[in-house]
Amino acid sequence: MFLAEATQAGTRAQAGTRPAATLYARPPIDWWHASLNPEHTFMDRYQTRRKLLRKLLRKEQLDGLLVTNFKNVTYLTGFTGDDSWLLVTPREEVILSDFRYTEQLDQECPGLRQQIRPSGQTIVEAAEKVIEAAKCSSLGIEGRSLTVAVHETLAEKLKAVTLKTTADLVEQLREVKDAEEIAETRRAVRLAERAFAVLRATLTPDQTEKQVADRLEHQLRLFGAAGCSFPPIVAAGARAALPHARPDGQVIGDADLLLVDWGAQSGLYKSDLTRVLVTGKISPKLERIYGVVLKAQAAAVDAIRPGVLAEDVDAAARSVIEKAGFGPRFGHSVGHGIGLDIHERPRMAINQKVPLRAGMVVTVEPGIYVPGWGGIRIEDDVLVTRDGHEVLSNVPKEFSDAVVQ
Ligand code: ZN
Ligand code: ZN
Repeated sequence: MFLAEATQAGTRAQAGTRPAATLYARPPIDWWHASLNPEHTFMDRYQTRRKLLRKLLRKEQLDGLLVTNFKNVTYLTGFTGDDSWLLVTPREEVILSDFRYTEQLDQECPGLRQQIRPSGQTIVEAAEKVIEAAKCSSLGIEGRSLTVAVHETLAEKLKAVTLKTTADLVEQLREVKDAEEIAETRRAVRLAERAFAVLRATLTPDQTEKQVADRLEHQLRLFGAAGCSFPPIVAAGARAALPHARPDGQVIGDADLLLVDWGAQSGLYKSDLTRVLVTGKISPKLERIYGVVLKAQAAAVDAIRPGVLAEDVDAAARSVIEKAGFGPRFGHSVGHGIGLDIHERPRMAINQKVPLRAGMVVTVEPGIYVPGWGGIRIEDDVLVTRDGHEVLSNVPKEFSDAVVQ
């Protein structure tokens, strides 16, 4: 009824049904490793991810997981549309979608079993049918994405199934990036850097925050980005004290500093950087606060290596800021993972006893915010490597680099 799990025979049969072009267009088959471990033969990145998920399901004593977070569906299948759920059971998987996506599903995940619901049938009704057919007795649901209303409907209709709320099963897998994900993130970082260089070179005092944000997005797209990874934050002067200021009609030449927090999306992956430009008078206060933030950021970046707890990276930055007397003015965490989402695991924050692992990509972005005066935040994207870290972004950030006059 469902596709067999990725056993050697099953995956060979499945790979054989694919057009050769598709097979070779998806290169993450590790031939060396495959030759040593028959289980890995012809297993593509999505099958590998589903296999790892199944291990987690066994640990959680679940007969299956209903994946309702669209980004998680993408991660497990390669399907980039939305409005589609995935049911993963110990031996099978099926994607629930609708007519709009049939061709896209054939292109993006050939061989994956599809359940295309007829018009008039809701995705919840379609899910009831496949869950019943799969005969799960204990089914995980994604507590962070499934609504209370849908949960109630499923519980009412599927009396024989125990629904168990799970948190972050797929998100845990997403924490560590594979080589392709890292390569795509590098591209997202390069696009962000290039667009910022153009923006900086063409900045004039008469531009408003919104114009700067719009030009940045335009430039990113001209360079080939899918778009911004989030709406850019462009905040002049005192408005930079709002960590998530929305760009408005404020003229940037009227303030002494300009905070720009931006990122590019390349393929499905995102970058996230922040720089502060000095656009007016250089006051000792500005230079001092900038120096403290830069030092805090360097301390946090230096702390990054496998095995170090996320909270310790936060503490490395926080202690520099506290010692300088600005502790209460740094009210957010030092960073976050980036990937398919702009904010994902691991959280780089107080009380996060999560050991860093090679392959994680995190931001490091301490800040100091002084109401009525402004804010300084410096943010880079950092890859955890096997023996330490690599800072992926390279936009000059010494104080002298920040001065644009
Ligand atoms: Zn940012
Ligand atoms: Zn960030």
